[in-house]
Amino acid sequence: MSKYDVTVIGSGPGGYVAAIRCAQLGLKTAIIEKYNTLGGTCLNVGCIPSKALLDSSHHYHDAIHNFEKHGIKTGKLSVDFKQMIDRKNEVVSQTCDGITFLMNKNKIDVFTGVGSFKDTTHINITDAKGKVTTIEATNTIIATGSKPSTLPFIKIDKKRVITSTEALSLKEIPKHLIVIGGGVIGLELGSVYKRLGSEVSIIEYMPTIVPTMDTMLSKELQKSLKKQKIKFYTSHKVTSVKGTAKEVLITAENKKGEMVEFKGDYCLVSVGRRPYTDGLALDKAGVKMTERGQIETNSQLQTNIPNIYAIGDVVKGAMLAHKASEEGELVAETIVGQKPHIDYNLIPGVVYTWPEVAAVGKTEQELKEAGVAYKVGSFPIRALGRARASMDLEGQVKVIADAKTDEILGVHMIGARAADMIAAAVVAMEFRASSEDIARTSHAHPTFTEAIKEACMAVENRSIHS
Ligand code: FAD
Ligand code: NAD
Repeated sequence: MSKYDVTVIGSGPGGYVAAIRCAQLGLKTAIIEKYNTLGGTCLNVGCIPSKALLDSSHHYHDAIHNFEKHGIKTGKLSVDFKQMIDRKNEVVSQTCDGITFLMNKNKIDVFTGVGSFKDTTHINITDAKGKVTTIEATNTIIATGSKPSTLPFIKIDKKRVITSTEALSLKEIPKHLIVIGGGVIGLELGSVYKRLGSEVSIIEYMPTIVPTMDTMLSKELQKSLKKQKIKFYTSHKVTSVKGTAKEVLITAENKKGEMVEFKGDYCLVSVGRRPYTDGLALDKAGVKMTERGQIETNSQLQTNIPNIYAIGDVVKGAMLAHKASEEGELVAETIVGQKPHIDYNLIPGVVYTWPEVAAVGKTEQELKEAGVAYKVGSFPIRALGRARASMDLEGQVKVIADAKTDEILGVHMIGARAADMIAAAVVAMEFRASSEDIARTSHAHPTFTEAIKEACMAVENRSIHS
């Protein structure tokens, strides 16, 4: 029987990063993945394919709406949707192959099959033909991720009533896509199909879209997406969803208690994801779960069984690829006796719509609730020379700083390239910068990052360009 210092179950951005870090630290490492390709949700049916389609559809939208103003004539444009999906598949397969390369490079043994606990130190791997291989593991890291969740009365038929997985591989552009849930998936995939010509209606239970983000971001994003003709039905409670061979019929109750009916050809259910532990036989190892179906862990991501750890979407916290990866590194380093630390307040969140939305730290709502005194500086993107040059004028950067110490407590931005710009704010906050520190730091001109400096200057009412 093969014996490993560490066995990782699941090869998403949590699992594969944990495996590489373990191998770097000299641990004999195995990784078990039930699918034939490595990379988990993120690489196969999540971050990477959604961004590939967002990029393709953005080019198309730009070509239709903005090229002429730049002096570029294109003639009549059309979409080759099959080619768009094929390119997305190519991007996915190249990225997944990259993980196989990294496993070989780091001498990590890859097992294909479902991993399940035999006991606390033995893992069974059942392949597609039902053949079981057992390996011994001194330590195990559970990184089995999450699956789309749904509402009790909705039957996901994967044809008309679909999840993000099917929405990333449709055979046709929907005529009318009805999206249940105005969170990250609903807005990103809703944007893809709106840009490609679908009518898109988003039904959201809460009064605002992306309800956990700073209210400024939800309001500004909704305003921008409304201009792109996405229809929003906030404060609507979906009461029934019926898929037939050709259409979907949905009813919802608005805040006045009136019944509203929707008819479309596809319904995307994007109301969140649930931790995935099916088939792990956690009971055989005695690993405890929370009431919400997550694996219970302490601050070092150790379960109640000391040699078994859990990371990523299957444990508490934001369901984000970079959060899962940070946790993978933390556990590997903990196993070899190091003392790593993650500041969860500084895990950035991004929505890859256009304009992009990105945030780190506390929202104004959270600071108000906690009774923390703060000051705010904002800067409009349209005041930037770079924004006028590229015609990406929408959005703003808002910086929240402690009223007494001036330490930056939160940065919330909407605008072109916000997804990349947020890194500057994360670094600043990691080093506990004050808004004045950033206000006094040189930012290249003309760039979008000048909006961060100007927003920091605005905290003390000394913004130059607004
Ligand atoms: P996963 O990536 O879910 O990987 C778990 C792996 O474990 C899977 O491959 C699964 O097959 C395997 N597995 C499960 N059980 C077993 C078993 N018993 N034996 C063997 N293998 C098993 N996050 C971002 O940060 N940025 C984004 O832009 C982004 N976009 C997204 C877009 C979409 C459409 C979706 C659905 C998600 C997106 N996410 C994004 C979220 C991100 O994909 C997840 O947070 C991330 O994949 C979680 O990583 P993980 O390693 O915990 O689990
Ligand atoms: P989400 O939690 O972001 O959004 C779900 C939305 O559905 C919320 O706005 C919620 O209020 C709404 N909702 C819940 N019940 C509802 C109901 N009955 N009727 C109408 N609306 C309802 O979840 P998601 O968009 O499904 O994404 C799942 C996870 O994947 C998220 O945790 C997210 O972090 C991750 N993800 C991240 C990215 C990214 O980082 N860019 C992209 C996609 C997904």
